[in-house]
Amino acid sequence: MKTVQTKSEVSAAVVKWKSEQQRIGFVPTMGALHQGHISLINRSVAENDKTVVSIFVNPTQFNDPNDLKNYPRNLENDLALLASTGCDLIFSPSVIEMYPQPDTRQFNFGLIEQVMEGAHRPGHFNGVAQVVSKLFDIVLPHKAYFGEKDFQQLAIIKNMVQQLNYNIDIVPCAIVREVDGLAMSSRNALLTPEQRTLAVQISKTLFEAQKKVGTLSVNDLKLWVINTLNKIDGFETDYFDIVDDLSLQPIANWNHPAPVHGCVAVKVGRIRLIDNVPLNVNGL
Ligand code: AMP
Repeated sequence: MKTVQTKSEVSAAVVKWKSEQQRIGFVPTMGALHQGHISLINRSVAENDKTVVSIFVNPTQFNDPNDLKNYPRNLENDLALLASTGCDLIFSPSVIEMYPQPDTRQFNFGLIEQVMEGAHRPGHFNGVAQVVSKLFDIVLPHKAYFGEKDFQQLAIIKNMVQQLNYNIDIVPCAIVREVDGLAMSSRNALLTPEQRTLAVQISKTLFEAQKKVGTLSVNDLKLWVINTLNKIDGFETDYFDIVDDLSLQPIANWNHPAPVHGCVAVKVGRIRLIDNVPLNVNGL
C-alpha cells in the first residue's frame, strides 16, 4: 500500500497497471474512514486487480463554510484502517493539487438535482461532479464504488458518467449501519454522546415507516416521519421525501409502478445527517 499526494504519481501507477492489463477499482472518500467506507474498499479489492482510494475533503461541494471547517480529518487513523484492506494506492492530494485553477464548470443534472440534497445544499452536486470527474480523469478506473447512503449522489454520478461518456462501471454499495441501526457517517464523530444516543431515532423512524407503507397515505407517512423526528430534542428535519428510485421525483401514491425510497436529512444540533430506506408496498 502506497500513499501519494500528486496526480503525476497516481498517473505513473495507472499507466503501469494499464500496460499490464490490470483492472482498476476506485473508491473516492473524504476520509474520517469507517466501516461503511471499508465495505466499499473490500468490494473493490475483491472485484479488481488494483484498488485506488482517494482521501480528499473537497471544498467545492460544501455549501456551508462551517461544515467544511469542522469536517473530521484524521489521515493517520485512515491509513491505519486502510492497511489491512489490501488496497494498493491511496491518493490524498492538497486542495491546490486538485484545483490549480478554480473549477468553473457548471453541470446540469436536470430534475434529479432539484430535490432533496440538491434543493437544500445549493451547489453541492456541482462540486461533487467537479471533484469526481477530476478524480476519474486521474485514476481512469474500470469500476468505481459509491454508497447507497448518499442515494441522490449515486444517481448524480450515474448521470454524470453518461453525460461525459465515461467508460466506468458505477457500483452501488449497501448502507452499513452501527449495531443500533444508525447509518455510519464521518459526521457521527461530531455528535455529543447525548446526540449520538438520540441519533438512532433517525433509522428507527425510517424502519417504522417501512411498516406503515400502504396503511398511511404517502403524504400522511411523510408527515408522520417529519413530526416524529421533529419531536425529538434538538432535531430539525430538513426534508423527508418518498421518491422514485430512478427519477428521484416524489411519488403521488402507493400505486407507483416502480421501486421507491424514503430519504431523510435531519439536523441533530448543528450536525446534519442523512439516511434512506426502500419503501415498497409489498415489502420488496
Ligand atoms: P464520504 O467520505 O462521506 O464522501 O463517503 C465516501 C463514500 O462512502 C461515498 O460513496 C458514500 O456513499 C460511502 N459511504 C459513506 N457512509 C456509508 C455507509 N454508512 N454505508 C455505505 N457507504 C457509505
